[in-house]
Amino acid sequence: MTISTEHGPLRERVAAFLADDPGRLFIGGRWVAADETFASLDPATGAEIARVARADAAQVDAAVRAAGDALAAGPWERMRPAERSRLLWRIADVMEEHLEDLAELETLDQGKSLGTSRFGEIPAAINQFRYYAGWPTKILGETIPTSLSRTPAGKEVFAYTRREPVGVVAAIVPWNSPMIMTAMKLAPALAAGCTIVLKPAENTSLTALYLGRLLQEAGLPDGVVNIVTGFGHDTGQALVDHRGVAKIAFTGSTAVGKRLVSTAASRLARLTLELGGKSPSIVMPDADLDAAIAGVSRGIFDNGGQVCVASARVYAHRDVYQRVVDGMAAAGEGLTLGHGLAAGTDLGPLVSAVQAERVASYIDEGAADGVTVVTGGTREGDVGTFFRPTVLTDVPPHARLMREEIFGPVAVVTPFDDLDEVLGWANDSDYALAASVWTEGLSNGHRIAARLQAGTVWVNCHSFLGPELPKGGHKESGWGYENGPQGLENYLETKSVVMVV
Ligand code: NAD
Repeated sequence: MTISTEHGPLRERVAAFLADDPGRLFIGGRWVAADETFASLDPATGAEIARVARADAAQVDAAVRAAGDALAAGPWERMRPAERSRLLWRIADVMEEHLEDLAELETLDQGKSLGTSRFGEIPAAINQFRYYAGWPTKILGETIPTSLSRTPAGKEVFAYTRREPVGVVAAIVPWNSPMIMTAMKLAPALAAGCTIVLKPAENTSLTALYLGRLLQEAGLPDGVVNIVTGFGHDTGQALVDHRGVAKIAFTGSTAVGKRLVSTAASRLARLTLELGGKSPSIVMPDADLDAAIAGVSRGIFDNGGQVCVASARVYAHRDVYQRVVDGMAAAGEGLTLGHGLAAGTDLGPLVSAVQAERVASYIDEGAADGVTVVTGGTREGDVGTFFRPTVLTDVPPHARLMREEIFGPVAVVTPFDDLDEVLGWANDSDYALAASVWTEGLSNGHRIAARLQAGTVWVNCHSFLGPELPKGGHKESGWGYENGPQGLENYLETKSVVMVV
């Protein structure tokens, strides 16, 4: 099948950005070239969109130093909380003025449909800044009554805590939802008063670089946010190894996350990890089936399944199993594949050829395990990295298809008869990021939510996320939480001050 990769001309500001040597590093408020560059590709066509700088260790060092300087002295260090609030709100306003540009650039670079970028992800990224704009004026210490026996006669002890920014933050983000992941780190870190060195993923650096220009336009002082682009094993590693980095905020694969634990341990750097998942969805016999089928289908097919919380394992009660399988297959077959910027596209390509090959290899391996491919299972089109929405059944519990994160539009559907049985299967995973349950029974919803092992459980919905909702992984899906007040805590230290008065 031929897939249409035709789309109209790029927006004027996006075209101007791409024409203006966009792939430079943002260090101390200046845009700096690097000796080496690499290509950022349009995954729908394989065409080069731009050259991106590959930061070397000296440039990473300069970025960390710039962040350290901005933290220690200057306008950022002196800025009052209310001004920080206003600045975060201003960043959101400037992003909103450029919403269409950010959406188009995100789609061009990552592949996802323009609708997903325009109405889902970029507005969600903007909301992160608006939510955390309310926090700088509400970061409170406490006064503490003490009973210290060493208090000199006639004196009192006055003790209180201060909440202080943790320091320079290394923010490392993946390629599946670049702008949201960036905003989820930048917004709370800035609210806490930290300074940042951001490393976007090598496949999708462009919106972060565009954002750098918007941060300047919003008036963020030089050095508060620095952006170094490059690959994980060199640029990323140089950043997390840097002794000037007090805190590593990482979203990405569990394999890299585990490696960062040893890196951080060597100097006890603060570390939060938002890692992989293999999220279960349980469809009970009393579920609103139309809603459940639509919800789990979106949960696995949106963004080509390149979503950490994707509903990758669907367990449907045997009474409704066949309808769920048929409904999900129909939902997948009803999606139009195409260039993310082409009119009518529901589903864009996967982010890269490597990713498409990886997804295909899982399906090939499933054939040996006797897996049934109900629909999909193959790449599509002569160019680009398109993969057909896929529904699989008869997947054995031990198969890698059942246990590993595929990060593609691949759902595994399994029938169950009994609640204890299905909860055992759902929880039989190294991951515990998210889960959903579909039932019209209120009590069932609460009970199952309590028994599912996951950082987030949705009842009658999936992938409902927002800046006010704490999000984190249990088990091997992560350490710590983003969003909500918990997300702010990641960027704060507590200092006790004890005075004899
Ligand atoms: P990845 O781990 O390969 O890379 C993530 C980022 O880390 C990239 O910027 C990469 O360059 C960098 N990196 C890689 N090696 C590094 C190193 N040694 N030192 C420092 N940085 C390094 O992940 P990916 O393939 O880009 O993203 C997909 C993964 O992200 C999936 O596992 C997905 O589940 C996960 N993810 C999790 C969440 C969540 O909130 N839990 C959200 C989105 C994505």
